[in-house]
Amino acid sequence: MSASSNNRIYLSPPHMGGTEQDFVKQAFDSNFIAPLGPQVNGFEEDFSKLSGLAHCAALSSGTAALHLALRILDVQPNDVVLASSLTFIGSVSPVKFLGAEPCFIDADYKSWNMDPDLLAEAVDYYISIGKKPKAVIPTDLYGQCADYDRILEILEPHGIPLIVDAAESVGATYKGEHAGKRALMAAYSFNGNKIITTSGGGLLASDNEEYIDRARWLSQQAKEPLPYYEHNELGYNYRMSNVVAAIGRGQLEVIQDRVTRKREIFDYYKNELEGCAGISFMPEAEYGKCNRWLTVILIDEDTFGADPEQIRLRLEDENIESRPVWKPMHMQPLFKDCKSFGGKVSEDLFKRGLCLPCGTAMTQVDLDRAVEAIKKCGKL
Ligand SMILES: *Cc1c(COP(=O)(O)O)cnc(C)c1O
Repeated sequence: MSASSNNRIYLSPPHMGGTEQDFVKQAFDSNFIAPLGPQVNGFEEDFSKLSGLAHCAALSSGTAALHLALRILDVQPNDVVLASSLTFIGSVSPVKFLGAEPCFIDADYKSWNMDPDLLAEAVDYYISIGKKPKAVIPTDLYGQCADYDRILEILEPHGIPLIVDAAESVGATYKGEHAGKRALMAAYSFNGNKIITTSGGGLLASDNEEYIDRARWLSQQAKEPLPYYEHNELGYNYRMSNVVAAIGRGQLEVIQDRVTRKREIFDYYKNELEGCAGISFMPEAEYGKCNRWLTVILIDEDTFGADPEQIRLRLEDENIESRPVWKPMHMQPLFKDCKSFGGKVSEDLFKRGLCLPCGTAMTQVDLDRAVEAIKKCGKL
């Protein structure tokens, strides 16, 4: 075996489109290295075109975007915010930053996203005890949109705002519209392993201009409009820098190619592995188009002959990265005192799931290496 045939295959590494350096050069040439400048405005405009949301604030992370969304809704200590249990911590930690209480809603098997029936139960419960939730934050898991319309049907009679955690779903659609478009506010991430990346970054989008103006203001230390520095409110240092935004402009040019390639990779794994007894794939809900940010399989240990952790370690031996499905928030020691509705579905997906390497720059040789390594773990 030659050394190069054992190169590490990463889960979902950055993949530059080619024009990022041109935009970065523009940022350097105009001397707008930091902090703000025309690349940030350009990135926000480009993202508005993609998402269909009229107003965008480019920020330092997706977590920052969610934090600002909750601040804008005036979430206070002891308020309740309903969130997906099957998600990444960045979706939920902003609730705790504000001293509020997250309550976790389980997933359904149809989409692996927030189960609308359990959400309805939770809303009824909190209304009945006189504690209307301040917001609901469903995650668009692994690039698949939550069922926004069903969620909105439940929230609208009570006037509860919908914030979508679209950190993983850039480029995905729901009934033909971009992920997050139907929300009051949507948060996106451009962290290093997301479908497009600025190395690190995020964005808050809304059709409400006041919200996004306020997000920009809060993200720049909430300075009063005076010649000296005066502060009436607590702000943050959350704005995206001009150089980082320049990378994002280049990445936005290739988002459709990235979605196409992510979906091809998913389909390839599916064709190759679906015949193996005991392996199944994350479903695609009929209402939308998933960006397939990550290809995720479920393993039935008894039928397949190995559990996800055994497969992960076996892949690791061959220098191939894979990763467990997110550990549900209701199982996290940090949230042991939080309330949750349901939980069995996300527990099962965590136990049986495995995320496969699916970088958009993967070659056919890489893909076959991963497929063969997985097959070798099975009984046959
Ligand atoms: C990545 C991610 C975030 C956080 O985004 P950062 O830019 O890393 O802060 C939030 N929620 C989900 C579901 C994510 O996958």
